[in-house]
Amino acid sequence: MTIPVDIAALGARAAAMIEQLGAISSAPDNLTRLFLTPEHRRAADLVARWMGEAGLAVSEDALGTVRGAWHPAGPDAPRLLIGSHIDTVVNAGKYDGALGVILGILAVEAVARGGLTPGYGIDVLAFGDEEGTRFPTTLSSSAACAGVFLPASLAAMDGEGISLAEALRAYGKTPDDIATSAYDPSRVIAYVEAHIEQGPVLEAEDAPLGIVTAIAGASRLSITVTGEAGHAGTVPMRLRRDALAGAAEMALAVERIARAGTDGMVATVGRMHVEPGSVNVIPARVVFTVDLRSASDASRRAALTRFEADAHRIAEQRGLGVVISAFHEVATVPCYHDIQRRLGDAVASLGARAPLLPSGAGHDGQAMAKLCPVGMLFVRCKGGISHNPAEYASPGDMGMAAAALIRFIERFQQPHYNGGTSGAQT
Ligand SMILES: [Zn+2]
Repeated sequence: MTIPVDIAALGARAAAMIEQLGAISSAPDNLTRLFLTPEHRRAADLVARWMGEAGLAVSEDALGTVRGAWHPAGPDAPRLLIGSHIDTVVNAGKYDGALGVILGILAVEAVARGGLTPGYGIDVLAFGDEEGTRFPTTLSSSAACAGVFLPASLAAMDGEGISLAEALRAYGKTPDDIATSAYDPSRVIAYVEAHIEQGPVLEAEDAPLGIVTAIAGASRLSITVTGEAGHAGTVPMRLRRDALAGAAEMALAVERIARAGTDGMVATVGRMHVEPGSVNVIPARVVFTVDLRSASDASRRAALTRFEADAHRIAEQRGLGVVISAFHEVATVPCYHDIQRRLGDAVASLGARAPLLPSGAGHDGQAMAKLCPVGMLFVRCKGGISHNPAEYASPGDMGMAAAALIRFIERFQQPHYNGGTSGAQT
């Protein structure tokens, strides 16, 4: 059956809900809503109210994830999970995370009210810890749902010395209950998330929506370059071992590698520390970081190998020492091919074109992929700006995204994804 959709009305509702949720902040003059804070509580309560008004059965798990259940085929039927997060970074935009939760509620409300009776159920999820702003953990809410929560992260401390375990207790939760938050993989069909793109591609392509092919994996390196300090006025150029000049050449090398790279590869040198850091002393030691991402682990590894070779060659030519250490590694999560296709069909049925693109940013889907196949729908955002108060998605685009989720749910018809989260990459 085809549920009637009014894109303008859906967009207007989404925009009003974005404003309401965006007003819940710990700061008077910007949006800051961190995990397990009073603001998280207020946001969770608002989301729970919306879910209840939409006809969903509301519960909350041991990590504070709000769950809105619509189970027309009974509680034992397999479930489609639709979600995103309601925590933010400091001085955030209103759309990152919040939009996906709101669109999930609007879409499920529409199909439920429209009389759809699929053979599966839907849970709308509002996670509380995606950004990793308060604790040095991230995705702990979705990890708990996926059954891969690491108990060691309970000891993680926030900036005020409060551990995650203590914060959970203060929020009214029992850390011992976390294992009960895990979904039974045999009962879950897939996880789907709508999210603002956080990049400029859809705007450049003049497309309101995009289909995510993969959540890019990331490698982070720390590179220490050692040379020799010397007087800026007396050491001739040919006798210098300038650690900063070498580090700069290495930064340009990784830029060149990423520019020539495939699978949406991007590389960033975001931090560089120079010693001794004096205006009249040749730099003796430089420590800098490289953040390298791509939607293919193979291309990322090949790029890392090339960069290491370049860095050692540059160091040798300049008489410098170089030590490279990797301190963070996250594998690429491919979005399930069949879900990409179904999301694309749903968008096409609305008369729009949805380009395929990788996500350079991390998302809850990275944890949920440990549980089930994942898919993501991107919504165009103005100027590609996010993690910034200027973040903006138009009501028209949000309405299109809600309508696309409705069409996706209608067509979903309980496919049989029998295990395996990375399969079907056909
Ligand atoms: Zn987000």
